[in-house]
Amino acid sequence: MRQLIAGNWKMNGLVADSLSLARAVADAAPGLACDLLVCPPATVIRPVAEALAGSVVAVGGQDCHTHANGAHTGDVSAAMLRDAGAAWVILGHSERRTDHGETDTLVRAKVAAAVGAGLTPIVCVGELEAERLAGREQEVVGRQIRGSLPEDFAGVVAYEPVWAIGTGRTPTEADVAAMHGFIRAELVAHLGERGQSVRILYGGSVKPSNAAALMAVPEVGGALVGGASLVAADFLAIARAT
Ligand code: PEP
Repeated sequence: MRQLIAGNWKMNGLVADSLSLARAVADAAPGLACDLLVCPPATVIRPVAEALAGSVVAVGGQDCHTHANGAHTGDVSAAMLRDAGAAWVILGHSERRTDHGETDTLVRAKVAAAVGAGLTPIVCVGELEAERLAGREQEVVGRQIRGSLPEDFAGVVAYEPVWAIGTGRTPTEADVAAMHGFIRAELVAHLGERGQSVRILYGGSVKPSNAAALMAVPEVGGALVGGASLVAADFLAIARAT
């Protein structure tokens, strides 16, 4: 299966800079051996999707509500993301889990809403540093997988150790291999044979200098890239490392 390199732009980007970043990615995309996705802030999904129409670069949101519409001030539904041109959505990112108290149960409901609206979900899981230091990383990630993914899950999982996000620190390749192997086994236990075909991305301080090593780890199906996805040259260098 081709690897997927997904950019999480987080809360960054006005229309003009978002368009130039998206166009730079699209211009280089045809020569690349991986699938490409950019996830801009909700306010620029439509212009970015319009600029990328006809390219191989897909567009996603960074979160969605569980309901299609209603009295939920400030929220964005999966149907709205789809309407704006998104085909994917990141769910359960650690910044959502921390800043907005998102639980596995809520993430699972969001997965159902996303799939119902025709979006492919990327569900993020990952342990805190204290949990890893206590040797509890597999217990934590296993619980997140069982709690966040419905039994009929058809999407992508992103393993993002919280302590590696935006810090410049990454797990060792052996640690990534161990966790991705564990996640694969959990997916098969939870989803049956379908768990074999779920792509498992690695995320957390992926940059051009470490991308090739991380992407070569067994069971790594691509990367979810935060900071480095805001610089076209860096995002493309990561994509070339697949
Ligand atoms: C992320 O937020 O999903 C992420 C992986 O961020 P960064 O690449 O900046 O660590």
